[in-house]
This record gives sequence, structure tokens and C-alpha cells, in this order.
Amino acid sequence: MIASRRLVLTALLALALTPGVAAAQASAPPDATARPRNVIFMIPDGCGPAAITLARLVSGRLLVLDSLLVGAVETHSADSDVTDSAAAGTAYATGVKTRNRMLGVDPEGRPLGTLLEAAKTRGLATGLVTTADLTDATPAAFVAHVAQRTLQDSIAIQMLEQHVDVLLGGDLSRWRPVSAGGRRRDRRDLVAEQRARGGIVVTTPADLAAARELPLLGLFGIGLDQIALEIDRDTLREPSLAQMTAKALELLGPASRGFFLLIEGGRIDDAGHDDDPAGVAREVLAYDRAVALALAFARRDPRTLVVSVADHETGGLGLGRRVGRASPYVMHPESLLAARASVWRMSGDILDGGDPVTVAEHGTGVDSLEDDERAALLTAAAAPDTVRRHGLLQALSEIESRRVRVGWSTGGHTGVDVGLYAFGPGSERFRGLHENTDVAHLIAELLGLDLDAETARLRGGPGTTPRR
Ligand SMILES: [Zn+2]
Repeated sequence: MIASRRLVLTALLALALTPGVAAAQASAPPDATARPRNVIFMIPDGCGPAAITLARLVSGRLLVLDSLLVGAVETHSADSDVTDSAAAGTAYATGVKTRNRMLGVDPEGRPLGTLLEAAKTRGLATGLVTTADLTDATPAAFVAHVAQRTLQDSIAIQMLEQHVDVLLGGDLSRWRPVSAGGRRRDRRDLVAEQRARGGIVVTTPADLAAARELPLLGLFGIGLDQIALEIDRDTLREPSLAQMTAKALELLGPASRGFFLLIEGGRIDDAGHDDDPAGVAREVLAYDRAVALALAFARRDPRTLVVSVADHETGGLGLGRRVGRASPYVMHPESLLAARASVWRMSGDILDGGDPVTVAEHGTGVDSLEDDERAALLTAAAAPDTVRRHGLLQALSEIESRRVRVGWSTGGHTGVDVGLYAFGPGSERFRGLHENTDVAHLIAELLGLDLDAETARLRGGPGTTPRR
């Protein structure tokens, strides 16, 4: 009896540890109508439905995310059908639509309480994890209140003052003064300040793996650069989203009153802005590995709700394209498997003096460029400084996009609906089509958070007291 029970437990454990659809279908579903105590809110920045499909086609399998699809979200902001990440992040963080470029404030510029702030007020542990810069729009929307997303020095200070338990993301330079190799002009060294108040600060994957205590601040990227796109990442010097996710869950999991954790796949958007098909596919697959970890955690701790939803689509990616006389009913996603670098990295290598054709053939994995591709690349490489990067990105994107048979409508964002994914207690509530603001209200309701009270506290209304 004991032996067979152990066998069953071992089998269940194996399933729980196996990321993927098989595991999703094989174990009993959690009570979708119950209330969670932990929320893992995941945002694949700039990831529209076509990016998901492309990643699935390239990998030749279903994504973990695919098993969690429950609905869709309309993404428009207060002033545009095409949102930016600041307004979209604000909608998810506060439940209020604001204007593009505004963060954590309403269209009139008044501060709005966020899910993370309300979670702190309730005594939950909190975390922000991203492959973008920590002070970039999406994570910033949950902790900062500024009328302009570019005020990143101010955002870093606001982020520090929130006393978030786990902060992991890119761009150390925003946290250090110019005198210490950073970019801050106010002379503040926020890394030193964090250490002075007892926080752990790490800057390498090895130190991240070794971190055992809270609060934890991890700032990654080589030199003044962002964390590289997954396809370019130096695995010894920059952590993956999955590595950061695993550490955040390890440290927040034991929190006695539960936790609120935001995880952003921050650079799908950047690959989309570059119209980079291999870059997008690799970023989505890296994001999906983080989803697998979140899902495995939620299976071990069934009081955990996982929600994944993009803030908007980027690039206007279209799957299917007529090229010359070839059939428009054929795609070649497998052609992207040969790519070794993002179009951003390739264009940088050419700007640094690399031979354009050699760099392009090595980076895209294309054996030999066509004559017109070679000509377009050399024309772009010879263009004036101000337009050279853009031209190179376009020429390199075209080499890959034409082969895989995809098109792009823009180098910006688009207004298409994005997929909504949920698992765990309360996940039933996310079914169907929602406004992006609904997601914040649903999470607040399920966790018992009061966003209005948080807004009143921020505005210093009568009867309100500062939290700290
Ligand atoms: Zn963007």
C-alpha cells in the first residue's frame, strides 16, 4: 500500500516538474472558483497572437502557454487605439486607462494606486522581474507615478522607496552615479543605498543563483547595455528570464501572507520593433520557459493564480506572404532555426566595422545572400550615420522575413487584441474578452486588494495615512 502510494506520488511529482501541455492536462485542475493568496502576473511585452503562433511553428510543439488560454484583451489607451507600454502597464497595474507615455497616473496626471502597492499594504511580499530595464515602462507602472515614462532616474528612486522584496532586471547604470560608471546625474548611488539598508545586490547569474535573502536587487546587462536578447545572450554574464523567475519564486514562495509577483518578458517588444522574426520567436520561447516555472509553482502551491497577458502587439507581424512566384500558402518557419544573432546585434556588428555580407550570412544562417539582398545591405551600410542603423535593421529583417514568409506592418505597436491566459484559483473569471483595465480589477478583487483606498492614500486624502 505504502509502496504503491509512493509510486503514485512519484508519478505526480514527475508530472508537476514536467513543464508542458501533457502535465497541464494530466493533473487535476485547481478550484478555479476559489481565491488565490499568491498572484504571478506575467506580461510578455509586445507579444501578439502571431508571435505566439510563430514561436509554436519554429519550435514544432505547443507552448506551455497554449494550455492556459482563456480569453483576449482589448489594449487601447485613453488617447489612442494603439497603446504604448506605459499606458498599457498603468491599465494592468491600476485598472485605469491613461494616456500614452504616462505611468501610474490618470490622464490628468494624478497618482493611481497600483496592485503592487495595495498588495504591500495588505502585507503580501512583492516582486518585479523583467528582461527589460527595471525602470522601463512595464515594471515601472506598478511602483512609480510620473507623467512621462522617460523620467527613469526618478522612477529608480520611486522603485527603491517602495521596498519591493525582489527586483530583478536590466540596467545597472540607472542606479549608479556618473562617478561610479553609471548614468545618474543626481550623484545618488542607489546600489550603495540598497546595501546600506541591508539589501542584497547582485549583478551576475552566479551571484543571483547564490542569493538566499530578501530584499534582493539584481541588475544585469553588460556595461551600459540592456540585458541582451535571448538569441544574443551571454549565459555566463546575463541571466535568463527563467533563472530570474526561479529565484523570485524560491524567495517569495515562503512568504507567510502570500505574494504578488510581476514577471515581464520585456524584450519580445524590442525584437518586434526591429521586425526580427528569429528574435521574436526566441524571446517568446524564453518567456514560455518562465511560464512553465510559474505553472509548476502553481501546481505545487494551489493557492497560486497565474495570469499572462501582453500589453499590446508589436510590429504588426503577419504570418504568410507572397514572395515572387512562390505559393503564398507555404511558410518556412524552420528557416529561422539557423539564425545565430538578432538583427540588432548584426546591425551593431556592421556599424562596428564588420563586413556587412559576412555578418549577415553568419547571423541569419543563410548560406549565400541573393544579389538584391546583398545590394540592399551594402546600400544601407553606406547610408549617412543618422539612418544607417535603421536601414541595416530593415535589410537584415527582410533577409529573414522573406525566407520564412512573414510580413510586418510597422516598426511600432499595433491595436490588435492579445491573448489572455490564466491558471489557478479564480482563473475562471478571466474567460472571454476583457478591457485591459478589467485584469487589474479582477486580480484586486481576487486578492482582496483595495485600489481606490490605495489611490486615496497616494493623494493624501482625509483619513489616509502614509504606509511608511
Ligand atoms: Zn514597444
